[in-house]
Amino acid sequence: MQEIVPGLWDVDELNSYVHVYLWRWAEGVTIIDAGVPGSADKILAAVGKLGLQPSDVRRIIATHGDVDHIGSLRALKRATGAEVVCHTVEKELLEHPERRKPARTPLGLLLRPLFALITLLPQYRAEAVTPDRIHVDGDKLPEGFTIVHTPGHTPGHISLLHPERRILIAGDALHNRGGKLGAPAPIFTPDLENAHRSLWKLAKKYGDAIDTIVCGHGDPIPSGGGARLQGLVETIFEAEATR
Ligand SMILES: [Zn+2]
Repeated sequence: MQEIVPGLWDVDELNSYVHVYLWRWAEGVTIIDAGVPGSADKILAAVGKLGLQPSDVRRIIATHGDVDHIGSLRALKRATGAEVVCHTVEKELLEHPERRKPARTPLGLLLRPLFALITLLPQYRAEAVTPDRIHVDGDKLPEGFTIVHTPGHTPGHISLLHPERRILIAGDALHNRGGKLGAPAPIFTPDLENAHRSLWKLAKKYGDAIDTIVCGHGDPIPSGGGARLQGLVETIFEAEATR
């Protein structure tokens, strides 16, 4: 367990390429994303390390419906009884994870059959979950998070902004692999243009209100994240303008 800033924990026991975060707040703990299939026991053990029980899990928030983020969602819901929430538009992928497709880029189309085959393997297959509550852009959660709709990587992708604490949990709207902040990988982002516009929105509307950024993939950015996000967005749109 790694505490990134007070109250925000990374479940690094998963030793995975994808992050699961715990948010410790007055009424218990909230789990953000659920990791790959088979992660539930380790996530619950991490909850235990905070001195809490599975019944203290108040909510499980799915940033989006990719198997590496919802793989253990159903198992966690079963073990905790906590409500599962996502964006209105993402409900479809939580209920039908097999509908996720790579982008219609030449490489994506080439890999489509392979992608379909891989999703048949148990370690890449998420069990369907019906969310208990669905949200839209701007909704506020009791944990202090505001839902920010950041579509592109998936249609109903959300990021979570905690304005008082200046934290952005970006999901896969951003990644920080190798310490380099970037937009999501084109091959897994069917609407890359929209993903870029989501970053523009995050940077323009909230950039000055963000210090800490954590992503689904890559290292956490404990401080200075808003400025780095604004820098990234400038680079993306300068490149688009000169194309
Ligand atoms: Zn991911």
